[in-house]
Amino acid sequence: MNYIILDLEWNQYSGDPAFSEPGLPFEIIEIGAVKLGDDREMVSEFSRLIRPKVYTRMHSITGRLIHLQMQELQSGDPFIDVYNDFREWCGPDPFFCTWGSQDLTELQRNMRYYELPPLSLGPIAYLDVQKLFAIAFESESKTRRNLEYAIDFLGINKDIPFHRAFSDAYYTALIMKRLPMNVLGHCSYDVFHLPIDRDHEIHTVFDDYYKYISRAFPDKNHALSDREVRSTKCYLCGASTQKQVKWFTTNNRHFIAVNRCDEHGLMKSKVRLRKSEDGRMYVVKTQKFIDNKEMLSLRRKRDHMKYQQGKNDIG
Ligand SMILES: [Zn+2]
Repeated sequence: MNYIILDLEWNQYSGDPAFSEPGLPFEIIEIGAVKLGDDREMVSEFSRLIRPKVYTRMHSITGRLIHLQMQELQSGDPFIDVYNDFREWCGPDPFFCTWGSQDLTELQRNMRYYELPPLSLGPIAYLDVQKLFAIAFESESKTRRNLEYAIDFLGINKDIPFHRAFSDAYYTALIMKRLPMNVLGHCSYDVFHLPIDRDHEIHTVFDDYYKYISRAFPDKNHALSDREVRSTKCYLCGASTQKQVKWFTTNNRHFIAVNRCDEHGLMKSKVRLRKSEDGRMYVVKTQKFIDNKEMLSLRRKRDHMKYQQGKNDIG
């Protein structure tokens, strides 16, 4: 298996975004990538400019940020050619790594625009190195730093300028090499293509939590009444559990319940409703074990919501 550290630069319509090309809010203008072997040693590099077809004026922010001029892009090749070369360069079994969570989505959106065969028929597991950096080096794992911060933090030499696809992929690869082995298991999923059916849904058990990604449902009600979505079976042993805090919501997008497994204790389930690329609904459910204090605090929250709803019902 090869790690493909990928970074893209893209341009957008330089006017009211409402008038951008349907299906292509961001047009990729550069692909940069570094290939790492199993041992995370660099084995190969990829760097290509793309001649834009849709947005032929540089958006002011893009131009300022990435120091690329339209003139320069004219020396690039069409997206389809660059993508095909890139895909071949990746090899048969690429495992993508990116800084942040946007690149794989935009790559696939550009591919769909040009009617290229999909990278995958379902979600793609990948490593978000920005997230892994936080897990490894920040006290709060939800923190997100920019690439240059991480490079400085690790004392890596800044020998090439930032904000070009290849340089950002190269720096991301240097960070990737320094991540402790134990964080590499924290993969993310790109859900540009959702699971095609129930059998292909994602169920992943991490060190300290479980993640489920559903297929797409026509609407919220179908999603929320699905058996798997509502299931509060213990993710460690599969046993049925006893209700401690019934499903409740504070905002109609996130739903929480707490159950007790005889063997493993108090388990919190959290369902997040999300909109898919094609406007349908899907669910990301996470489950983790919590202590009694957190359970009681969630129970108070639920009681409060119930009280508020009761008040609204009456007047
Ligand atoms: Zn259990």
